[in-house]
Amino acid sequence: MEKSTQLPKTIKVFNFAKKEVNLHGEYKIANVPRVSDLARNNEDNLKVNLSFHLENGKTPCVKGIINSKIVLDCQRCLDALNLDLKVFFNLAFVRYESQAEGLDKVYEVYVLGEDEEINTLDLISDELLLSLPMAPSHKFDCSLKVESEIKVEKVHENPFDVLKNIKIADFGKE
Ligand SMILES: [Zn+2]
Repeated sequence: MEKSTQLPKTIKVFNFAKKEVNLHGEYKIANVPRVSDLARNNEDNLKVNLSFHLENGKTPCVKGIINSKIVLDCQRCLDALNLDLKVFFNLAFVRYESQAEGLDKVYEVYVLGEDEEINTLDLISDELLLSLPMAPSHKFDCSLKVESEIKVEKVHENPFDVLKNIKIADFGKE
């Protein structure tokens, strides 16, 4: 068993699995490709655990956990949406799709082709993106909140002022 606090840049799949390597490390969200484009909290860290082993004595596998708090834009109200993510994944690395036959269904199959190594950050990024909601939005109906705020304005303000505001808002969108 080897331990490391700094994750290597690339994962040597066969080598790590044979040695049953355990890796722990942290990444700044800013350094995680694609995820950093979506997140508002790029200065925060995510924690990664990777444990490698050989399945059936021949297929390299990794069990991974990514812990992260990610702040996205809510697609409905555009406010910050806090997600507390704990992503678990089980990957089995094969050269060809056919080698995945007979593997436990718990494993997601990762086809390596001729590659011996994979980029660690790309792997983390892929798994994290898969776990993000397609259209992130608040659990409560945040569109209702916006509507009720407009109603309050209508009660307190001159109705013509409200109309003016709506027109300005519409122009801004176009
Ligand atoms: Zn929202």
